[in-house]
Amino acid sequence: MKQYITEHQSPYLDLCAEVSEILYEGKSDFQDIVIAESKEYGRVLVLDGVFQTSDRDEFTYHENIAHIPLFLHPQPKNVLIIGGGDGGTAREAVRHPEAEHVTMVDIDGKVIELSKQYFPRIASAMLEQNPRLTVKVGDGIAFMKEAENLYDVVIVDCSDPVGPGEGLFTREFYKDTYKALKADGIFVQQTESPFMHRKLVKEVFDAVSAIFPITRLYTAFIPLYPTGMHCFTMGSKKYDPLTWEPNRKRIFPTQYYNEGIQKSAFVLPNFVKELLYGEAGK
Ligand code: SAM
Repeated sequence: MKQYITEHQSPYLDLCAEVSEILYEGKSDFQDIVIAESKEYGRVLVLDGVFQTSDRDEFTYHENIAHIPLFLHPQPKNVLIIGGGDGGTAREAVRHPEAEHVTMVDIDGKVIELSKQYFPRIASAMLEQNPRLTVKVGDGIAFMKEAENLYDVVIVDCSDPVGPGEGLFTREFYKDTYKALKADGIFVQQTESPFMHRKLVKEVFDAVSAIFPITRLYTAFIPLYPTGMHCFTMGSKKYDPLTWEPNRKRIFPTQYYNEGIQKSAFVLPNFVKELLYGEAGK
């Protein structure tokens, strides 16, 4: 008999993936966790019924969430990742030799341990115990409250704004993030689909705009996520991605990211501009 995992992407739309094997099914203190071998996307991680990553398309997400802010900053020495328990964003961050200290804080130690076991390629920096990477288990919201003037780049690689990730989408968290960044710091958060999650995208954009002098949205094609069109909201204290010029050479290979993408990711379709800026944006 065929087996499926279904994500309810909206009340009216499901993503139903045929799987050949369920490798792990359990509960942590924070969420339901399923790891399965899917026929289309390879191995998948599913938290609370939502596909988080897959062996086949993970590079589309991890390269975009990591390299766009990291290459915008000329010297990203101190990097903080909130969430990102699968290790993919940390793996991309340590590829930058400028990143002397990368700290990852995920609330769920079980996601971290299972990712090391079942997603060795994604979790490689954690498995290799890269000396520039520190992995902490804890609440990113509480962690951010304590930090002041410490980070060059903060990347919020969180789950959806339900469950433990909910507080990562609030004005208070963005204020704490602003405080945690150095004077020229950059913040990026994954903010779902600008096609399907319009309300969330607009609310986050307005909240970040009220705090950061430069707020931009960029998009990437992430096949596994709702609508395939995903966006990331960036708050920056100094560097504007719209005037970015290459500031150093990329010395590692990538599958999605390139210098053209660094610029084109910020070029928005009119329906997204209208969502963010109203009619005037067009
Ligand atoms: N790329 C993914 C996506 O958009 O679906 C996110 C992947 S990553 C696995 C999300 C992580 O955020 C999970 O491991 C979860 O434990 C973590 N997380 C959720 N709330 C958190 C919080 N308050 N502090 C730190 N980590 C949190």
